[in-house]
Amino acid sequence: KKLGVALVGLGGYSTYQLAPALLQCKNCYLAGIVTGTPSKEKIWADKYNIPQKNIYNYQNFDSIADNKDIDIVYVVLPVAMHKEYTIRAAKAGKHVICEKPMAVSAADCQAMIDACKQANRMLSIGYRLHFEPFNMEMMRLGQKKVFGNIMKINSSNGFVWGGDPNAWRLKKALAGGGALMDMGVYVIQGARYTTGEEPLTVKAKEIKTKPDLFKEVDETVVWEMKFPGGSVAECRTSYNENANFLRAEAERGWFELSEAYRYGGMVGATTNGSMSFPNINQQAAQMDDFAQCVTQNKSTRVPGEMGLQDIKIVEAIYRSIASGKEESV
Ligand code: NAD
Repeated sequence: KKLGVALVGLGGYSTYQLAPALLQCKNCYLAGIVTGTPSKEKIWADKYNIPQKNIYNYQNFDSIADNKDIDIVYVVLPVAMHKEYTIRAAKAGKHVICEKPMAVSAADCQAMIDACKQANRMLSIGYRLHFEPFNMEMMRLGQKKVFGNIMKINSSNGFVWGGDPNAWRLKKALAGGGALMDMGVYVIQGARYTTGEEPLTVKAKEIKTKPDLFKEVDETVVWEMKFPGGSVAECRTSYNENANFLRAEAERGWFELSEAYRYGGMVGATTNGSMSFPNINQQAAQMDDFAQCVTQNKSTRVPGEMGLQDIKIVEAIYRSIASGKEESV
């Protein structure tokens, strides 16, 4: 039986990525929606054949507890809302996928993990790249030391903000931070899964060229992370620069993705030549894997603890920006 997924928050990512991906899933399907915008209800119901009884708003959301069609709640809201909806979903007896970044603070992440544990439900973070073949090759090459020990990681992820100056992503209270929270977590992830290690210390600085637009949140952050095995990651993220790469230099060669973090169209190479892997639907692979973990009672490769660790690193980076010093994670 396919498990039923309910998407909470029908913004860009739900509309253009997750809902279409669910049509391709083998282990789960789009069974329900939770939205605060009544005009979206009929559009989604018609498009995805969702019965009225599986449509919720933020007020009656908790009654999803009584709905046997819904096995998994997928939280796709502004970051500051992740905690509340993850905890409410767990209390309603549902397994949860929560989008990245997991929450606005490590304390919130821990509360989400605790709530899911207490409810005996699984919690996963929407880290789609753990299911993407080029990124999985970076993990293999780095973690298996195919080219020896990694000396240096170099990665950047960003885009030039051209959107609404009033968007939630630019509001500290809703987003928790700027480019670092939204795009920088991919760079943190990239360095973590390529080395297979946890950074010990970070040293960071912020660059701001558009203080009017980025009044409340960071525009560009540059940071270094030192790993216990001796490798150093030079990292950058921005809402004002286009960049998207992950590169590792090891003792006997290099390996890199010159298109690293996108929904598709990855480009990769090593010292020995270009990488060749199929383009897959990452979101479908990610959701199918979680549904299988739930059905088979296996642990997910992208658990809440992984999201918590990224937010601990984010907090250390913000501490370092404030202190101007190297900070331990
Ligand atoms: P979005 O702005 O397109 O959608 C946000 C949704 O939340 C909207 O439907 C909006 O109506 C709703 N919402 C409810 N309360 C709100 C409030 N107080 N203020 C603003 N919106 C409110 O955002 P999105 O791009 O879909 O991002 C949602 C989540 O998904 C974020 O956590 C984001 O980081 C994550 N995301 C992940 C990926 C990925 O590749 N994994 C890609 C994009 C977004």
